[in-house]
Amino acid sequence: MDTSDEKKLEQLGSFEISDQMLRLAQNNQRQNIFLNAGRGNPNWINKKARLAFNRLVEFGLSESERTISEGDLIGYTKQQDMLTRFKEFLSPETKEIDAFFLQMLDYSQQLGIDTEMFIKELTDGVLGNNYPVPSRVLKNSEIILNHYLESILYNGASLADQTDIFPTEGGTAAIVYIFNSLRENKLIRPGDRIAINTPIFTPYLQIPELADYELVEVNLQSTEDNHWELLPSELKKLADTNLKAFFIVNPSNPGAKALTPSALNEIKKVLIKHPDLMIITDDVYGTFVEDFQTIYAVAPHNTLLVYSFSKLFGATGWRVGLIAAHKENVFDRLIRQLPNDEQRQLNQRYHFVVMEPEKLPFIERLVADSRSIGLYHTAGLSTPQQIMEVLFALTHLLAGKKDAYIDASRSIIQQRYEDLHNVLGISTDDTKGNSKYYSLINIYELAETRYGKAFRQYLASHFEYIDFLVRLAEKNGVVLIDGVGFGTEAGQLRVSEANLPTPDYERIGRQILEILEEYHDIFKKADTSGK
Ligand SMILES: *Cc1c(COP(=O)(O)O)cnc(C)c1O
Repeated sequence: MDTSDEKKLEQLGSFEISDQMLRLAQNNQRQNIFLNAGRGNPNWINKKARLAFNRLVEFGLSESERTISEGDLIGYTKQQDMLTRFKEFLSPETKEIDAFFLQMLDYSQQLGIDTEMFIKELTDGVLGNNYPVPSRVLKNSEIILNHYLESILYNGASLADQTDIFPTEGGTAAIVYIFNSLRENKLIRPGDRIAINTPIFTPYLQIPELADYELVEVNLQSTEDNHWELLPSELKKLADTNLKAFFIVNPSNPGAKALTPSALNEIKKVLIKHPDLMIITDDVYGTFVEDFQTIYAVAPHNTLLVYSFSKLFGATGWRVGLIAAHKENVFDRLIRQLPNDEQRQLNQRYHFVVMEPEKLPFIERLVADSRSIGLYHTAGLSTPQQIMEVLFALTHLLAGKKDAYIDASRSIIQQRYEDLHNVLGISTDDTKGNSKYYSLINIYELAETRYGKAFRQYLASHFEYIDFLVRLAEKNGVVLIDGVGFGTEAGQLRVSEANLPTPDYERIGRQILEILEEYHDIFKKADTSGK
């Protein structure tokens, strides 16, 4: 690839560059096995929740056959005595997963859930035999999901019974719905300033810039020097009342670090000066940090929480995520404070679907807007997806104090992180907030450490910054993701510790060093010929 091609490539987003790299890597010159450490998609999945889903489908089919049974055409389930039949259906002596359901019944009873209704909800849910009703979230499912969020993300704050949840098609849909409803409800307008923690997952940089939104982004920067930690001094900027909203990925992607307790404290202080600040936090990586605490736990009235099951449970294909909001929140308050004519417009907007549109909470507006309002009554995440979320959540809630599955997910990425760093001879960052889901490798820094400052300068001034990434793919078949699209300085490459078998991380380290050595050979020749 020549320099002009590389310059064109540098205009693309990180993931689009990565797609190009995949093509190069698959036909790499050295015929190495092709290694894609670009994607955040994990290479593990959760077994228990999937077994449980399967079992519920089996039970649901037997229930359906009780009402109509004409070959493959079977009927609708009936509530009466379903719980009794479910208990009879279970055989925990021979089927390990059935013990999970017995435990689930106990647990849901403790939460005050009507287990008769819950079994019907789960059974019909996996069968997908009805529209999602209520459209935002199934009733008992919301209770379970709330307890899950409280357990994994709040670190002691108890908010489960004060929080509304809207399950969505992954975190992706959650992000899109939020931007859209904020705009439709005039909470963000073209030209508004919003703060973003950078470097960040590209959609958060790209969406605000799009013509529909035209938002002005203010970066709260974390840097390599601070090990990608977002410092309280940066967070102080949020006290500026010209900032409408703060979008954050926490723990971050690609920096992988969680906000520290003192950073969370700074946010609380900022809100005293700026009580109208809207915060949207994407906590998909929260479970990879011990004792993680979300911003929502310390600032529930100002914060929308986005969560996804994709990463922890290896469920990217399921498209399962959610939005959570406190019942008392700044979004509802700001809508009530809009000028009268704008409120009238909004009431007009939502009056097709509710009697008192002025009372429609923001989270319900998200549901309605997600289906262009007119289809509000058939909005909502598909019921099998909602139940899958519930079952994922239950694997954790029933695990007791120590969730072996979460521990295993942490140690697998920990191992890969260490292997990569050890081969490269880079020191590891073992601070508590480091999720280690991703690493940023600074190629220029690595060049200097191994071969000295002159070589670093040569590398930076004689080649496009993307050149290293291209060579790594073209020659050695290794795909990483360029950090510039996420908002890092040139030379940072993101390695995902999630998506390759563990032994591959040492290989990736060695391939990086090999390419670096080849540049160094070019440098040496250039150096001597110049003398
Ligand atoms: C991977 C990821 C998600 C998950 O998105 P899904 O649509 O649920 O798969 C959300 N946010 C960030 C920042 C991510 O990196």
